[in-house]
Amino acid sequence: MSDDCIFCRIVEGKIPSCKVCQDELTLAFLDIGPLSEGHCLLIPRQHYARLDECPAATLAALGRNLGPLARAVVDVVGAEGYNVLNNNDRCAGQLVEHIHFHIIPRNPGDGVFTQWPAGEYPEGRIEQLAENIKKLL
Ligand code: 5GP
Ligand code: ZN
Repeated sequence: MSDDCIFCRIVEGKIPSCKVCQDELTLAFLDIGPLSEGHCLLIPRQHYARLDECPAATLAALGRNLGPLARAVVDVVGAEGYNVLNNNDRCAGQLVEHIHFHIIPRNPGDGVFTQWPAGEYPEGRIEQLAENIKKLL
């Protein structure tokens, strides 16, 4: 637990939140600044800054809870779909340095994300990247 972490303080009940489910390893609550109605956050109860620092058992619990939570949220708000988003590092949009998965209900034309700046690889680069990543796994 980290005293200067907002989400640790939510886990400890020192900051109020609208919780929707919790178990031994995880907690879900409504985001205070929603991108759409029902926007939720699923977090580990323990403090880890980034996804790759999270122990496998905790990641498994997060993964197990994501689907049912997303289903419940979209059913309640009557959304057609949803995004699951996990930002890691400030450069990727992470403002709270405690792992969290956003569940963001979506509807056609809602304008929540308007950009997906897809690029393209020069000849041979995609195969080279795959080989290099495989070597580290
Ligand atoms: P990030 O940019 O780190 O991926 O997202 C952090 C999220 O946490 C934001 O969507 C923000 O609205 C939410 N958030 C920040 N502080 C609080 C808080 O005190 N309570 C709740 N419920 N959500 C928070
Ligand atoms: Zn924390």
